[in-house]
Amino acid sequence: MTVSKLLEKLSLKLWSDAQQRQAFIQALIDPQPFHPCILWVTERSHQSCFQTIPPLSWQPSCVDRLAVDDRPGKHPLHQQGAYYCLDFSSVFAATTLTAVSSTPQVVLDLCAAPGGKSLLAWRLLHPHLLLSNEVIGKRVGRLISNLKRCQVHPVQVLSADPRSLADHMAQVADVVLVDAPCTGQSLLAKGEAAPGCFHPVSIQHNAKRQRRILANAAELVVPGGYIAYMTCAFSEAEDERVCAWFLRKFPEFEPQHVSLLQDFQSHLTDMPCYRMWPQSRLGAGAFTILFRKRPENVRWSKTDRRSSHPQPNPWLQTHYRWRSHRNKEK
Ligand code: SAM
Repeated sequence: MTVSKLLEKLSLKLWSDAQQRQAFIQALIDPQPFHPCILWVTERSHQSCFQTIPPLSWQPSCVDRLAVDDRPGKHPLHQQGAYYCLDFSSVFAATTLTAVSSTPQVVLDLCAAPGGKSLLAWRLLHPHLLLSNEVIGKRVGRLISNLKRCQVHPVQVLSADPRSLADHMAQVADVVLVDAPCTGQSLLAKGEAAPGCFHPVSIQHNAKRQRRILANAAELVVPGGYIAYMTCAFSEAEDERVCAWFLRKFPEFEPQHVSLLQDFQSHLTDMPCYRMWPQSRLGAGAFTILFRKRPENVRWSKTDRRSSHPQPNPWLQTHYRWRSHRNKEK
């Protein structure tokens, strides 16, 4: 298979070591199957259905990796909502949430469809309320159906631009997830298409959008709260450089060390942020970082917060509300 000049150029920026560079390129141009991965949303009582791979030290206990030829999406338990199928890179990216210090009242997933990170946040953090937002209307149905199938509660599904959310409900969440739209370069490692993903215009377009979403996330999170930022792109412009911009622009945020992920520290920066590379053969690849907003000037006392949540801002009532959908069905 031919290697595009743009991929070669990117690999030269990422790796000075020729062997690593070659392994990285190879993983993208000659995709090999990864172990399927499932997130248990009910208690794991069905282990015998699948051949599981011994867990890695950082792997959350609600996640299993399965034998390469297992097809968990075709098992009746999937339809029954016992688990959700996802890429191991998604689990890796969400593992930054293990550094969140206490149970959050509200978690807001800003870029939520089809729902994998919302489910991971719900399982890992047990928030009192999960807000899952997806701005692209035609992707909302799939998000709702996944949350419904897995019986996530309490959850509200929204469909709004992050700017509108920031205008109407500033400081609403203790944890904001930004699983940002990106060039999707890691899709190649799964044999999927990502047209133009190495083109500088596409990279810059995505980086600009990622900065805009993060700037809105900064307004949506309470003092003392967290933003988890992640992408499935490899270009520094979408990852480390977006984070460096964010910290310059919003000095009230600090990146957090995630001890479980220390072996995955990005070699491209000293900032604590983590990368899974496709040549590791664990998953297609991801970038992840956890920011914390300094807790000064906390606006709400604990009691105020408790009375404010999970009663949502009235503005939310105009948007998708999965709970009310579900109630109507009963
Ligand atoms: N978090 C999802 C999951 O784990 O299943 C995957 C999210 S995908 C990487 C990025 C999402 O961001 C897409 O659903 C896309 O529709 C949405 N998106 C696109 N443009 C956006 C924007 N300007 N603001 C917020 N989200 C956007």
